Amino acid sequence: MKPENGYIFLIINTKAGPSSEKLVVKKFIEYLQQKGFQLKINHTESLPHAQSLAAEVAVKYDCSMVIVAGGDGTIREVAHGLEGSDKPMMIIPCGTENLLANELGYKTTLKNIISIFEAQVIRPLDLCKANDKFFTSVGGVGFDGDVVKLVDAQRQGNITHLHYFWPIWKTFWAYNFPKITVEVEGKIVFSDRGLVFFGNISRYALGIPILQAADFGDGLLDVCVYKCSNQATLLLHSLMTVLKSHRRRKSVFYKQCKKIKIYSETPMMTELDGDPGPQLPLEVTIIPQAVKVLVPPQGKPVGMRTRIFRIFE
Ligand SMILES: [Mg+2]
Repeated sequence: MKPENGYIFLIINTKAGPSSEKLVVKKFIEYLQQKGFQLKINHTESLPHAQSLAAEVAVKYDCSMVIVAGGDGTIREVAHGLEGSDKPMMIIPCGTENLLANELGYKTTLKNIISIFEAQVIRPLDLCKANDKFFTSVGGVGFDGDVVKLVDAQRQGNITHLHYFWPIWKTFWAYNFPKITVEVEGKIVFSDRGLVFFGNISRYALGIPILQAADFGDGLLDVCVYKCSNQATLLLHSLMTVLKSHRRRKSVFYKQCKKIKIYSETPMMTELDGDPGPQLPLEVTIIPQAVKVLVPPQGKPVGMRTRIFRIFE
């Protein structure tokens, strides 16, 4: 990437993230300016605004790339806005969980961000769609939909991992495991009490490898359904997932596919990339190679140990 390739468009959600990450954004901007790049800097606090900024610049011939600093929500909206564009998107992770950035192998240090920018390794990223909502990473129905709803209700500005503790605790004891039906490519594959996860990245919150086989650029969705009717079974499923042994279990359905339908007679909450999702029934599809994304050279998903340590840093 050279300054003569065109200007760099930055979309920054300053509301997201701790101050250490804001400092990385500031220092990285200084680095780009020192290198002689022309920058167009946009601050945003709203998700629709982030999307419309990205959609506008997607067709600007004199823009060379888009850099988005924010959490999973901001990154998702920018990816949606850039759908079908040839402009590469680079991330400066500034959220609580940074699901997509962690999957791509991003770290949050200035040194790492600069090395990703300089290497210019670009890979296609698929986008997922649930009804009319786009998402990049993971969606869920039921249990984690309830957790996200509780977190969202108490949300004021930046959230931390601590904000998830009581919602998970409350949901764990209150959840009654309604029956849910899952169709894959038009065939019913599950109709029982259970939890459903679907998406395009291998590691969920804290790096838990629920969709263990997922690849963000293979044109396929991964779906994982846990048969589960009580708290003890949920704990066992969680343990087996952490140990990466869940896919071998008889009570777990796992598949790669292009289309999923999920419905239930009981009203249930859904979540997409950690934000509240649409109501059931849900139809989930994938848009292959929708966006180009900068990835760290030899980047691989950040594991659970690193992510847990980061919480206490
Ligand atoms: Mg995939």
